Amino acid sequence: MKLAQELEILFSADQIAQRVREMGKQIERDYDGKDLVLLGVLKGSFLFISDLARSIDLPLAVDFIGLSSYGEATESSGVVKITSDLSKPIEKKHVVIVEDIVDTGLTMRYLLDNLATRHPASVKLCTLLHKPARARTKIPIDYLGFQIEDRFVVGYGLDAGEKYRNVPFIGVKKHG
Ligand code: 5GP
Repeated sequence: MKLAQELEILFSADQIAQRVREMGKQIERDYDGKDLVLLGVLKGSFLFISDLARSIDLPLAVDFIGLSSYGEATESSGVVKITSDLSKPIEKKHVVIVEDIVDTGLTMRYLLDNLATRHPASVKLCTLLHKPARARTKIPIDYLGFQIEDRFVVGYGLDAGEKYRNVPFIGVKKHG
């Protein structure tokens, strides 16, 4: 893949696949017998949720919410907007939010507060990546793929100006 040559690999496709399978099995054990909704945050989680869902052998539902916090900038403003809402109510359902990355945490703070007003049975957070160095609010992460340093990562759903989402691994842009 030519796009991939612009990047330095941080987590390979195999490393991601293995970790996602482990997370799926953990969710499978925790939600056996419960009415589970996997809630993907668009657009960054589209590959993660599709792999994660296939690792969970339970009769779950999948829904999506579109959130935008950055606009065109790469710094979180803390101002979050719902660009596309859930397709079904989550009242009395067990919700697992599936997010690509928790950075400052401001987006998740907004989503957790917003979902609480819809009276779900429970809400937990599953994120592939977490940058603790940048946290501006404490967010409880229930299922974590990888903790990373403060670097801007792309690939496996994550973009830079809408580019790189389809790269099968997670990497950082090479300089020069
Ligand atoms: P937060 O509100 O936690 O600062 O930001 C969360 C959102 O910012 C993520 O869902 C993601 O869209 C974006 N984001 C944060 N860090 C990165 C990064 O390193 N790479 C990319 N591509 N997006 C990021």
